[in-house]
Amino acid sequence: MRIIYFLLCLLPLSLCAQTTYLLKPDRVFDGETSHEGWVVRVKGDKIEAVGATSSVSSAGAEIIELKGTTLLPGLIEGHSHLFLHPYNETPWDDQVLKEARSLRTARATVHAQKTLLAGFTTVRDLGTEGADYDDVGLKQAINQGIIPGPRMMIVTRALIATGSYAPKGFSADIDVPQGAEEADGQDALIKAVRRQIGKGADAIKIYADYRWGLMAEARPTYTIDEIKLIVDVAKSSGRSVVAHASTAEGMRRAILGGCETIEHGDAGTPEIFALMKKNGTALCPTLAAGDAVSQYRGWKKGQEPEPARIREKRVTFKNALNAGVTICAGGDVGVFSHGDNARELTMMVDYGMTPIDVLRSATSINADVFHLVDRGRIKAELLADLVVVEGDPTKNIADLSRIRVVMKGGTFYKR
Ligand SMILES: [Zn+2]
Repeated sequence: MRIIYFLLCLLPLSLCAQTTYLLKPDRVFDGETSHEGWVVRVKGDKIEAVGATSSVSSAGAEIIELKGTTLLPGLIEGHSHLFLHPYNETPWDDQVLKEARSLRTARATVHAQKTLLAGFTTVRDLGTEGADYDDVGLKQAINQGIIPGPRMMIVTRALIATGSYAPKGFSADIDVPQGAEEADGQDALIKAVRRQIGKGADAIKIYADYRWGLMAEARPTYTIDEIKLIVDVAKSSGRSVVAHASTAEGMRRAILGGCETIEHGDAGTPEIFALMKKNGTALCPTLAAGDAVSQYRGWKKGQEPEPARIREKRVTFKNALNAGVTICAGGDVGVFSHGDNARELTMMVDYGMTPIDVLRSATSINADVFHLVDRGRIKAELLADLVVVEGDPTKNIADLSRIRVVMKGGTFYKR
């Protein structure tokens, strides 16, 4: 019997993963609301039923008692870079210039595993940062079961205006490799968007502003017409565009150009956030990245007053909340340690959101904004991507790091 089972499991996973489980936590956060006493029935790779104990059959299921826990949809990381590692280990410039792609890929496989075991069953990975199309192969390796990792939504190389995203400090006589693909103007942009899609991009990422040239502060890069063109070409294939933007003008162009999410948004003004609300553009605030970078630059968090950059970020984030902007959850993880993704969610509470709103952002809202219709909620027919934590993170967000169970597509990765 055992041998037959083993042989069957050489078949595609979907054919042999028909095991049925009944998970019995204290409560279920379904992506929107918390329900005391609910249970979840999983069959194969899908959620089969969810509801009060009396309404969900236990027939034929392995029953898993999870006293003292909360079950949630698998968390969705809205902004990762699996091909980067923390800048206090190696500065970004050196990762791009001195680390071979083979080294970066080896690291990325470890980062993928750490992310999944932290309860993040999906990542929107926003650029390989000089590692070409290597996210395509990483995603395939995870999907083929070669290595454990989250489901990946990828953007491959990302797009930048020529010369705008490079390691700094080099003579103008030297052509330095950039952290993304340079493309400008009508024909080159159309080609670059289509090439990235052809190679495997699920969405297109652009840098709408950056610190470029000899000026120290960020300035806009693409013109609004260029952004509109990128969005048109991406949209015609059913893909969305996401924009890195930290200046008010970069944000304004990205919003009016049709980008669906703004990453960072550090210098957003009340007027810009009102424009985001009006256009339905979501903000991915990446609070943890700025916090980490400030500490790498010497700020002793908890011992010294917050630097200006952090104080300003608190104000702009509050302004975005006041304007009613849709908030995604994404930390720019890679700048800080993979597997420590929940740091962003903790900081969102610290910066003014309620724990339950943060959990909505990291599950149903991220799924909606990223067009991932098969996940982000605990609901029949959706993928059995779920995480069980001790305690109740809808009350105490720190409980998110007390992971008991991680399941992706009906398979346990931590139990
Ligand atoms: Zn990033």
